[in-house]
Amino acid sequence: MNALINDIAVIKTKHSKINHVDFDSLKFGSVFSDHMLECDYKDGKWQAPKVVPYGPVTLDPSAKIFHYGQSVFEGMKAYKDTNDTIWLFRPLDNFKRLNISSKRLAIPELPEHVFMNGLKTLLQVDKNWIPKKEGSSLYIRPFVFASGNGFHASPANAYKFIIATAPSGSYFSGEVSVLIEQTYSRSANGGVGFAKAGGNYAGQFYPTQLAVEKGFQQVIWTDDNTHEYIEEAGAMNIFVRINDTLITAPTSDRILDGITRKSIIELAESKGIKVEVRKLTVNEVVEASKNGSLKEMFGAGTAAVISPIASFGYKNVKYELPKQNDSYANYLKKLITDIQTNKAEDPFGWRYKVE
Ligand SMILES: *Cc1c(COP(=O)(O)O)cnc(C)c1O
Repeated sequence: MNALINDIAVIKTKHSKINHVDFDSLKFGSVFSDHMLECDYKDGKWQAPKVVPYGPVTLDPSAKIFHYGQSVFEGMKAYKDTNDTIWLFRPLDNFKRLNISSKRLAIPELPEHVFMNGLKTLLQVDKNWIPKKEGSSLYIRPFVFASGNGFHASPANAYKFIIATAPSGSYFSGEVSVLIEQTYSRSANGGVGFAKAGGNYAGQFYPTQLAVEKGFQQVIWTDDNTHEYIEEAGAMNIFVRINDTLITAPTSDRILDGITRKSIIELAESKGIKVEVRKLTVNEVVEASKNGSLKEMFGAGTAAVISPIASFGYKNVKYELPKQNDSYANYLKKLITDIQTNKAEDPFGWRYKVE
């Protein structure tokens, strides 16, 4: 069945999988909705996007994504409220960041209408895939990669933009124990750390495996030059609470400008919590742990929203964080998810209605 929705061609699947999905026991990002958005870049421009049945992509073995890693992505979520209205959270920020990432990897930037109309059309076609259960959402993965051919080491002349979605339960990993990294780096000055480039993750996996072998779940990334400054928590931004002040590192070449991070900063400040955006040394955190002023540490990102840290390892010593009854982590997580799911007023104008 072909149709045009928002000027976008829609080719519907003849074999919906929706009746095979148990929406009450969804994991994170492991079942995929019936459709995806697809748009090709060729002959020097982005072509018309279309919604097509979800399925494999065929590429030539010489496609440049395989050899030179030109690939960037985004992570977002759609929510359905009790009236079945569909909401996104700050989607234009994801669109802008995708283009910031693309530019750094010499990938052609996308027009806004391809991203926004494409996304809205896909969500309307697959609206029954957006879970309603508390804590669940439709995880959205927009990505762009080099599909053009040739072993020559230069930017491809063809690219593919895809948006795939996955109905997901809450991403609760429990409280994590993290290792403050002293050898490896995820990013460097002048590098691609600020971009959501696939290769950044590839480079993180091995050091993270080593941390897991030592009994930790995640790595806290420090600056590549001295390993003295705290920068990110795995693939999340990091917040540290010392006494009643929240501290997070300033964004830079090396640190991803997270939408959850900047939302938490604004929300916390609006509730009278003192926030400091500044460099933070490992030493300061260790000292705060020793003198009892270190109250909380947590990661912030779209998937988990806020991921509390229970302990950290540094130079063969393990430091436990105190149990916090009125934690900022829980308080801020509830504030932000209530805005995302239309359970609370949105004084910031972050929520975006899909219609
Ligand atoms: C995606 C990502 C984040 C979090 O960004 P959000 O916009 O909040 O999802 C933080 N750090 C890294 C390295 C990331 O890739």
